[in-house]
Amino acid sequence: MKFLYKILILLLSSSSLSATAIRVLIAESESPVWHISAGAGFTFQNPKTGKKLPLLSSHRRLTITVEHNQFMINGKAFKEDQLYLQPINDHAQFEQDHYDGFFMVARQEGKYYLINVVDVEEYVFAVVKAESWPGWPLEVNKVFAVASRSYVLHQLLKARKKKSLFHIRNTNHHQQYRGVHTCAIIRQAVDQTRGLFLGYDGQPILAMFDICCGSIIPSNVTGIVDFEKVPYLARNYACTFCKDCKSFNWSFSYAAEQLQHKLQEGFQTPLGSVKDLKIIKKDKAGVVQKVVLKTAHKDVYFSVHELYKLLPIKSYAFTVKKQGKKYHFSGKGFGHHIGLCQWGAREMVRLGWSYELILKFFYPGTVFMRLHDDITAVE
Ligand SMILES: [Zn+2]
Repeated sequence: MKFLYKILILLLSSSSLSATAIRVLIAESESPVWHISAGAGFTFQNPKTGKKLPLLSSHRRLTITVEHNQFMINGKAFKEDQLYLQPINDHAQFEQDHYDGFFMVARQEGKYYLINVVDVEEYVFAVVKAESWPGWPLEVNKVFAVASRSYVLHQLLKARKKKSLFHIRNTNHHQQYRGVHTCAIIRQAVDQTRGLFLGYDGQPILAMFDICCGSIIPSNVTGIVDFEKVPYLARNYACTFCKDCKSFNWSFSYAAEQLQHKLQEGFQTPLGSVKDLKIIKKDKAGVVQKVVLKTAHKDVYFSVHELYKLLPIKSYAFTVKKQGKKYHFSGKGFGHHIGLCQWGAREMVRLGWSYELILKFFYPGTVFMRLHDDITAVE
């Protein structure tokens, strides 16, 4: 139980504004020009002193820039290196998206950050929309809500240890996040799982997920996560539920000239005509780590990450076959093959699995925990 209370204390001590406020990085720049608006204007607060700054409160649109290392808001200089911008009775808008909670601008080591500070439940509500498919049933959205909540709580505790300004990024490197929406089924999924997350050793888990696992067994995949630290991601049995997903098997072919053209985009100097492309390192799961391109001039080595940026491969579990002057790529799944398989979960719901059983299938050895005043494991 000690661990559980530790989580609670960490969460509650983070902010006087919300017990479980998540700080999502929205933008970072060395020379920002950010426009934020809210229908009824903003209030300003120094987060360090809690002092309200009675300035610019009638301004509905803020332009934030930096001059001489100081934040300038609508032309006025702020000496504070952190500032809360709280919309009055409204959502704030940045670029095309509206955000719940409030914004924080912060300066650290020559960089400037725009952060959305949002309650964990509103964060999960937004992420499930950005990472899910419209029209999927309630039960599968509950799976995603619990996974997404677990993931962000894991990142929150990790960020606190490192004393990071923000807890999570709004990219698919972490979880995509595009602010408020009105999808009723996702609201239900979040409300019906409110505060629920998966724990291991009393800590929220790194609940990674991908779109389609392609039946790759995660425990055979090397180089993505350290299974000693995250044993619940070392699932040693396959998900076969996603086999009707269109990304379960994928393929494409390039003529040698096309392949040369695509790969050339990653280089300044000419590669020369392509003679062969060979996989030289893959793991037990068939996940590729390294390839060599043989050209008329030289051998060029690519990590699979470099190759991923240049070719339309959907996952790293693929093979390449040369037939005459053509190169056939065929692979399995869409994503990194670790954790929850979204299309698998969708099919399991169709077959009658509950969201609890689905989560236990994909994250073996975990327990359900609840984020509450009296945080407790529910099993
Ligand atoms: Zn699957």
